[in-house]
Amino acid sequence: MTSHPEIVPSVVDRIKRTLVGLKMPCAIEILDATVRQLERGEMSALEAIDALLTEELTLRENRRIKTALVMARLSTIKTLASFDFSFQPSLDKNRIMALAELKFIDRTEVLHLVGPPGTGKSHLSLALGVEAIKAGRSVYFTTLADLVGALAKAEREGILRERIRFFCRFALLIVDEIGYLPVIPGGGNLFFQLVNARYEKGAMILTSNRGFAEWGDVFGDPVVATALLDRLLHHAIVVQIEGSSYRLRQHAELVPEHIRSKSLIQPPPIPETTKRRGRPPKNGSPDHIKG
Ligand code: ADP
Ligand code: MG
Repeated sequence: MTSHPEIVPSVVDRIKRTLVGLKMPCAIEILDATVRQLERGEMSALEAIDALLTEELTLRENRRIKTALVMARLSTIKTLASFDFSFQPSLDKNRIMALAELKFIDRTEVLHLVGPPGTGKSHLSLALGVEAIKAGRSVYFTTLADLVGALAKAEREGILRERIRFFCRFALLIVDEIGYLPVIPGGGNLFFQLVNARYEKGAMILTSNRGFAEWGDVFGDPVVATALLDRLLHHAIVVQIEGSSYRLRQHAELVPEHIRSKSLIQPPPIPETTKRRGRPPKNGSPDHIKG
């Protein structure tokens, strides 16, 4: 074989090729501009390296978050920044912001958001889901009706175990809308199997417009409801929202008085086996239960 004299590429060309090899398209895109800035003395060599790497990392992070948001099936993207805490004075903003630090996920706790329709339960659960995804945790969002439907379908197809395993994969499982629709026959049992499989292994956020005392009606089976609550209130944080609907804020006068004034939920009873932790709640209702 004849040997050809090597064409020595310029350093910039070599960096470009290296960046291609490393699959760093963003860094390649800003390389020429960065080099020019470097040559003009507007940037030090370290700053140039920093700029290239940061550009690439930002792209990757954004891409990761975008994919994870789709995978998580978050119905709409809501944020804590867009939540107007002044509209919901029963809600302690500091407490919600502390939840956004996501330690409850590490502790595999269950966060219950309980309150009447339109008080921001779904919004807060979605926003906490977004925070969890940004922090690199795996999240899945579903409604109870969809979840039970999926489990029932899997059972019919003989793949219930696999389906339960799928729902156990996520560090945070958000189950929205407990209590709006009656659960299909056998649905409580299926939900229990999932809850039991995730018990002390994965965190959950559950939202409901019904007090725990009504779960027997919600699941059409008091025995299953008791078993569910036994697991779901063991390592639990209960956030009760007592306010009016944000959806109806401009039309409150159109809502009949008997609906407006009626509290749609009852305060959750404290199970005898659980004990309180932290500061006692101001209004006497249990807002943080931990067993
Ligand atoms: P819930 O799940 O309790 O029925 P949602 O979270 O779906 O209520 O809230 C209904 C609508 O009002 C959503 O579009 C939500 O983003 C918005 N919303 C509710 N509460 C607030 C709030 N305090 N600040 C800003 N938007 C809110
Ligand atoms: Mg909702």
